[in-house]
Amino acid sequence: MISNTKSSTVAVYWSRLLPVGDDSAYRRECPFCEDGIFLVGRTRATFVLEEFDHCISCGQTIRYIDIEEMRKKEAEG
Ligand SMILES: [Zn+2]
Repeated sequence: MISNTKSSTVAVYWSRLLPVGDDSAYRRECPFCEDGIFLVGRTRATFVLEEFDHCISCGQTIRYIDIEEMRKKEAEG
């Protein structure tokens, strides 16, 4: 086990994470800790969904493998 696991980015499928609360929200449960949540941010400039995110509890950084599908889905409404 590498000691710096939490600081390295892990690639995950957003669609495979469990929803938190309201189903229409992008928020997802963190699979790396007990109560963690990924908020799914947006870029300030273009307001598109961010490819990179981090858990508000354990700080694990992740990259959404299916970010393009997420953005496409949103654009289609
Ligand atoms: Zn976490």
